[in-house]
Amino acid sequence: MIIDIHGHYTTEPPAMQQFRDKQLAGLADRARRPLSSDLGISDEEIIASVQPQLKLQRDRGTDLTIFSPRASGMGHHVGTEAVGKEWTRLSNDMIHRICTLQPDNFVAVGQLPQVPGIPPQNCLAEMERCVEMGFVGFNLNPDPSGGYWTDPPMIDKYWYPVYEKLCELNVPAMIHVTGSCNPNFHATGAHYINGDTTVFMQLIQGNLFKDFPDLKFVIPHGGGAVPYHWGRYRGIALEMKRPELAQYLLKNVFFDTCVYHLPGIELLTSVIPADNVLFASELLGAVKCKDPDTGHHFDDTKRYIDQLKNMSEETRHKIFEGNARKVYPRLDAQLRKKGLAGRAF
Ligand SMILES: [Zn+2]
Repeated sequence: MIIDIHGHYTTEPPAMQQFRDKQLAGLADRARRPLSSDLGISDEEIIASVQPQLKLQRDRGTDLTIFSPRASGMGHHVGTEAVGKEWTRLSNDMIHRICTLQPDNFVAVGQLPQVPGIPPQNCLAEMERCVEMGFVGFNLNPDPSGGYWTDPPMIDKYWYPVYEKLCELNVPAMIHVTGSCNPNFHATGAHYINGDTTVFMQLIQGNLFKDFPDLKFVIPHGGGAVPYHWGRYRGIALEMKRPELAQYLLKNVFFDTCVYHLPGIELLTSVIPADNVLFASELLGAVKCKDPDTGHHFDDTKRYIDQLKNMSEETRHKIFEGNARKVYPRLDAQLRKKGLAGRAF
């Protein structure tokens, strides 16, 4: 089984964005707000909307996608707390419907109703609600301000209620920013990678996993700049009298394979231990085009891993399936319930 741990619902029916537009228009003029949160989207429309993802699964030979709402659409920096809560609930409900309609292809990860400056206790009820619906993880935004980093670092006790809830629910968080409202930071080209890199450095500075030994973070987009600069981070950590990063952070921190070229995947898999790398593509739309040099889509990340000829079968299995089952124990439980126990190494 090949599990892609990082996909977003970027092919929503137009009614969803129309609702969001009305919601935001309603902030300035109450008369323009949506009158109902019932989007009027049928099951048939939902199934039709995920056909592009299903086709890519078939074409590329992957089986299951861990699926969350459109990341740039989370928009934590936009609107009020009440608006964000309604939007989050609606976005998560849509993911739940997709995963219920296509249970063999998608498993749900939720967004959180984060608001800059508002302590994240406001996320806990939604976390419980989602896990009751079968969600296996959450996207946690380290910068709800959308590029201005106005909230405390993720090692601050400010965030602890969310970590306590993640541990209690036995689900990981993917560190994932939303769109950028700071024109200095292109969303997917700079803000996303900054978020990944920044949080890893924060984790070196603090000692978060002493307080939360069972907490698991997935740092997406190949870990931002971290694997490429592993020597820098190791060196900084040692100068700060931290243990080696492998002992200090890698029991709790994992990286995905959303690196869109072969040399990047070669570097990632040679620097980061195989137990800490999880297969992902970030479908659909982070980079849409084809690489003119290869004729293949940049985001067809399975191809890069398939090209690593010296990788053992055991390592390949960890990256494609085994690590995902460990990091997302609720996913493993769901698969086992379906008779898909996976193989033990
Ligand atoms: Zn993403």
